[in-house]
Amino acid sequence: MVGVPSFIRAERVRFLKPQQTSASGDYVLYVMEACQRTVQNYALEYAVYQANGLSKPLVVLFPLLERQPHPNLRRFRFMLEGLAELRYALRRRNIKLVVRKGSRFSDLMREARLIVLDRAYLSHQREFRSVVVEESEAPVAEVEGGVVCPVEAVSQKAEPYARTIRPKLLKILDRFLEDLPAQQAVKSSLPLDLESWDEDGPEEYLRGLDIDRSVQPVSYFRGGEEEGLRRLSLFVRERLPIYAEKRSDPGTDATSELSPYLRFGMVSPVQVLKAVLRVSSTNDANVQSLVNELVVWRELARNAAVYNPLFGGFDGLPGWARQTLIQHVGDRREYVYDLPTLERAETHDPFWNAAQRELLATGKIHNYVRMYWCKKLIEWTETPQRAFEYAVYLNDRYGLDGLDPNSYLGISWCFGAFDRPFFESKIYGKVRRMTEESLKRKPGIQLYLSRYS
Ligand SMILES: Cc1cc2nc3c(=O)[nH]c(=O)nc-3n(C[C@H](O)[C@H](O)[C@H](O)COP(=O)(O)OP(=O)(O)OC[C@H]3O[C@@H](n4cnc5c(N)ncnc54)[C@H](O)[C@@H]3O)c2cc1C
Repeated sequence: MVGVPSFIRAERVRFLKPQQTSASGDYVLYVMEACQRTVQNYALEYAVYQANGLSKPLVVLFPLLERQPHPNLRRFRFMLEGLAELRYALRRRNIKLVVRKGSRFSDLMREARLIVLDRAYLSHQREFRSVVVEESEAPVAEVEGGVVCPVEAVSQKAEPYARTIRPKLLKILDRFLEDLPAQQAVKSSLPLDLESWDEDGPEEYLRGLDIDRSVQPVSYFRGGEEEGLRRLSLFVRERLPIYAEKRSDPGTDATSELSPYLRFGMVSPVQVLKAVLRVSSTNDANVQSLVNELVVWRELARNAAVYNPLFGGFDGLPGWARQTLIQHVGDRREYVYDLPTLERAETHDPFWNAAQRELLATGKIHNYVRMYWCKKLIEWTETPQRAFEYAVYLNDRYGLDGLDPNSYLGISWCFGAFDRPFFESKIYGKVRRMTEESLKRKPGIQLYLSRYS
């Protein structure tokens, strides 16, 4: 093995299966799961560097994992929309893309000299990686490229608040804005005869997958790295100048709408930050506000996923929040809705229905309304545990950005985590409430309602 290249910080790389001097194998294998891109992809560049150092070709495996929570048409279509351009971009660098259904690639692993994984944080993703490690005879390296700062380099413990992790992140941020060269693989893997599931477009793949077809694709977002980068430049040009002032106004398009692209790793948070810093400086309030969301809150979510084993469930909330919500289980609820009624956006509340319709139609909800949408579930279900389950179910099933550590951070925040106790109120106890009045004060709320009514 040739060590970590100087253009990648060593903290991003760790070996899940140790290097052996006697190892043999025909190629280096990169399993591309969490970082579905070719630009600013640390795992990919690490793998090319290793392949060149070992004088081996590099093969990229793209697994289509039907065994994950809510595998549905919407999510898979978005993912597959980027596949053709990915194959093309890799081919230009002498790298073969192999597509396989499920985890059936032990034949590929057998012939590998080294396996490279990209790091991910949720339990189903970690399980997938454990299987690779278990079945592999080759060394396995994991590269952390879905964050600006690697989780363990920031903190060694669960951080309770944004304010506790912020200074730790800001102190080391500059160190992790590495410029990654796009290296050419010296030995081409294109002539290798490897079984691959190759189709012309997303529809052909989708027909062959065992997934839930009732959650329809959305036209609002098209998947893929190119589209992600197009949206990033639009954001920098048109929205960044009003980001700090308008990001919480649901009627103004002031945010990046990059969350689905960040979720699938089609765009890297480092790329976003670099693009923003090319036109502005860290003294700019807009940049500071974006860093707060993209780095502080987003990486707080990764910290929680690594250090809180119960993160993502009601039991993962801090003790005071669980206690206060449970103490108020007996409080009278004016409205109680079942899941299908919520799912169909048929409550009495036009604001909530609009948020749910946005989720159904676009695959995400505007951040400000998303807080209201989630908080109201506490009020409209019999127990806070059920409210939590409903929030996770709706967000993960319909959200293109769902099934991400951010999903559980956002939901947990609505239930009191990463927040402080407030004055006692009905049903919510000491958990912060959010009222219709706060929504009505937003200048663009009528426009938002008209979009999603
Ligand atoms: C109940 C609830 C559920 C949520 N579920 C998700 C989810 O499933 N996936 C998801 O990515 N975000 C989720 N969020 C966080 C936030 O709502 C979205 O990240 C944001 O609205 C995405 O829009 P944007 O890309 O235009 O964000 P921008 O404001 O442009 O921010 C840029 C990026 O920073 C990150 N970010 C922004 N706000 C937050 C935040 N509050 N916490 C963590 N990261 C943030 C996202 O990756 C986002 O794409 C949730 C929030 C709540 C309250």
